[in-house]
Amino acid sequence: MKIDVISIFPEYLAPLQLSLLGKAQSAGLVDISVHDLRSFTHDNHNTVDDTPYGGGAGMVMLPQVWGEALDSVIADGSEIIILTPAGKTFNQKMAEELSDSSQLIFACGRYEGIDDRVRQHYSHSEYAARNIRVREVSIGDYVLGGGEVAAMVMIEAITRLIPGVLGNPDSLAEESHNSEGYLEYPNFTKPQEWRGISVPEILLSGNHAEIAKWRSQQADKRAKDNQ
Ligand code: SAM
Repeated sequence: MKIDVISIFPEYLAPLQLSLLGKAQSAGLVDISVHDLRSFTHDNHNTVDDTPYGGGAGMVMLPQVWGEALDSVIADGSEIIILTPAGKTFNQKMAEELSDSSQLIFACGRYEGIDDRVRQHYSHSEYAARNIRVREVSIGDYVLGGGEVAAMVMIEAITRLIPGVLGNPDSLAEESHNSEGYLEYPNFTKPQEWRGISVPEILLSGNHAEIAKWRSQQADKRAKDNQ
């Protein structure tokens, strides 16, 4: 999978080189490029924003700069993700859908966000005919200072679903959010007793059917408690 992230703070994305994602890139499973939006400007001040039409607080990111940046990375089959708190909320189902994509392009906004004509332009039928899709995505009902952290959240959740990225693919089998409302049971490791708290007896029994039943009950209880 090819991933392109466009931002005015490319350094913000440095953690994408670490841990599982770093290994996935070395193994050739994921190819991540981070692009500096300002390199697509043509004025001496590398301007990426201007005042909003209609008035109001803050600045809006310029469509022409975003258009040049997106045109430089777009290809047939690209999924363009415009990060915004006003978008569709990201969840595990969307992560699964996106994990099949050939290329994800993350547009990280700053200030009041990106001029809406960028979304409108890449929604045209000429792009749809090339299987290029644009979607606005939020990572939750709160407002961040910029889209960089949101892009990293999405990239981490999506790429770990790509076959070969996780060392042990069985880790994906019983995870929280695998199906609507499912939350994983609590986990325990050694020692058997820690600060006076013992591991539940059933987990030491070796009775796999009873362990599975207990875990399923615990998962249901968690889901209920979180409602
Ligand atoms: N004026 C915008 C609004 O009220 O919807 C908020 C802009 S926010 C200060 C600046 C940028 O941070 C956004 O363009 C977006 O890229 C990013 N951002 C903020 N919150 C986000 C969220 N919950 N999910 C995804 N991106 C977010």
